[in-house]
Amino acid sequence: MTSQHSDIVVIGAGPAGLHAAFYAAWRGLRVRVLEARSELGGQLSALYPDKRVYDVPGLPGARGAEVVAHLRRQLDGLDVDVRINTVARTLTSDGTGWKIGTDREVFTAGAVILAAGLGALLSRAPRIPGADSHPDVRTDLPDFEELSGRRVLIVGGVPQAARAALRLMEAGARVTLTHSRAGFRGDPGSLAQLEEARTAGRLEVLAPARLIALTPQGAELEVEGERRDLQVETVLSLGGYLPDLSPIQSWPLDWHGEYVPDGPGGSTVLEGVYVAGDLAGSGGDFKLISVGLAQAAVAANHAAHHVRPELKIRPGHSSDRRPPGGADEP
Ligand SMILES: Cc1cc2nc3c(=O)[nH]c(=O)nc-3n(C[C@H](O)[C@H](O)[C@H](O)COP(=O)(O)OP(=O)(O)OC[C@H]3O[C@@H](n4cnc5c(N)ncnc54)[C@H](O)[C@@H]3O)c2cc1C
Repeated sequence: MTSQHSDIVVIGAGPAGLHAAFYAAWRGLRVRVLEARSELGGQLSALYPDKRVYDVPGLPGARGAEVVAHLRRQLDGLDVDVRINTVARTLTSDGTGWKIGTDREVFTAGAVILAAGLGALLSRAPRIPGADSHPDVRTDLPDFEELSGRRVLIVGGVPQAARAALRLMEAGARVTLTHSRAGFRGDPGSLAQLEEARTAGRLEVLAPARLIALTPQGAELEVEGERRDLQVETVLSLGGYLPDLSPIQSWPLDWHGEYVPDGPGGSTVLEGVYVAGDLAGSGGDFKLISVGLAQAAVAANHAAHHVRPELKIRPGHSSDRRPPGGADEP
């Protein structure tokens, strides 16, 4: 999809947004998903990719990242354009549908599905002395290939830090990973690979270590009581994410605190704007993946009917249909 227009824009690529995108595209609509982060999966990939989840239907005990991978795979072959690193900031009516403004572009759509969860999961700003002096300090996962051949210092003990170290190493970067504590968080597979790579000398791990300051050329650290000066071209400070609803909280949605009230079919007070997942008021205390998936299915099918009235609201059974663009299972 190259045009700025799609049938539906979904805001947020957490479980609710990904499932809403699936359902709307499955109904034959062109869907665009806007996601503030550089990864899909919402809270599951930002906050607990390594934890096991026991109450997602059909995936007992899957890790957060695995649940996301399954939701992502369900979009294969469908007309879904996912824009990462894209924060939705404005929503205005264009007479027949909606205009959604981001920092770089304006998209239009016949309907909008809000699946923004707790808010845009934005990276915490690095609190490292001298951070302003280094020319390339980043706070979110990079394009790994772009950093091939570069010397990269990764700071942090969150699961993203261990995974980024491995991905960058594989992409050909020279990686040092440092953390104030000895241990790193992450799924057991990634942590085993990290240890293997460290033992083989394919990347350097300095932990526990004290990051004294960043300098224009790199970083000063204290490791086992000794001072180390590192020359690095890129610093990746991965300190977790904080949810921020402020980009959308000025939108006239009859907000109830951090919730958007949802009426029948996931409708909101704005015609053609629907809500699903943690953001939807009806979920209340049930901030759960399974609840968000159900709300997403309902909202997406109502949104599909809104955009194309000739489509029934009721989707019928997927088991009676061939996957769009795909072949039947033997
Ligand atoms: C530690 C932890 C453990 C959990 N364990 C479980 C569990 O075991 N079982 C269970 O069912 N639930 C669990 N949950 C809750 C579950 O993760 C949430 O219910 C679920 O993620 C909500 O999905 P969502 O799609 O509504 O929102 P989110 O997952 O929050 O995704 C919303 C997405 O929208 C993006 N976004 C927000 N605003 C914008 C914007 N303006 N522009 C662009 N993008 C935007 C965000 O960056 C985010 O990626 C857990 C939560 C936490 C924190």
